[in-house]
Amino acid sequence: MNVIIFLGPPGSGKGTMSEKVAGATDYAHLSTGDMLRQAVADKTPLGEKAEEYMKKGELVPDELMIDLVEERLKSGSGGGSYMLDGFPRTMNQAELLEKALGAGEAGGKGKEAIRNVFFLDAPREVLIERLTGRRICRKCGTNYHIKNFPPGVDGVCDKCGGELYQRPDDTKDTIGRRLEVYTRQTEALKAHYESMGLLVYIDADRDVKDIVADIVNVLKRDGGGDSRQ
Ligand code: AMP
Repeated sequence: MNVIIFLGPPGSGKGTMSEKVAGATDYAHLSTGDMLRQAVADKTPLGEKAEEYMKKGELVPDELMIDLVEERLKSGSGGGSYMLDGFPRTMNQAELLEKALGAGEAGGKGKEAIRNVFFLDAPREVLIERLTGRRICRKCGTNYHIKNFPPGVDGVCDKCGGELYQRPDDTKDTIGRRLEVYTRQTEALKAHYESMGLLVYIDADRDVKDIVADIVNVLKRDGGGDSRQ
């Protein structure tokens, strides 16, 4: 199994970048935020438990998260190459992931399955501006921004005509909480992956196409990306 991880604060563009990089490589995009939002919409037992935490901008407990991710990795739906967007978010999740990767195959590779960890960063005011202006299509999931990337018609998706909505946790108060949770619980992962020699720092306050090009180049260089470009 090959795994790439996208790490960074809310609004750093993990979702956008991983979708674009997934389109240029054989890695399957696995977003725990999207999986949880789907579970909430489907009112599954997991969704019902997760919703309260998500609304407040808190992290969903680790034991629920690792089951969710492990199940998806085991399903083999990504053909063995996965791009993790939004997971792990705590040291405990990182350790459980390494264990799960090791247990997944006969003579499993554990942490060696992790090819690169891309750390995306941008100044706090940029993160807040991106998150408060973000709008998403209910039908196809395309992301817009009211100033930086507005749709042709207000509130309507250019691609499929679907209705655009604002994530309930993209409000100013909840964003403050999410950034605080990130600093307290997730930032430590930077040092963890740096010590493993896996961290690639990406300046995420630039044009999307330049950021994607940098990531794809690293994947090509390191030979783990099976790049189609
Ligand atoms: P995201 O779409 O990545 O911003 O995630 C939205 C929300 O889902 C987060 O604020 C958390 O409440 C929850 N979430 C997503 N991924 C995780 C994770 N790895 N661990 C705990 N909670 C998560």
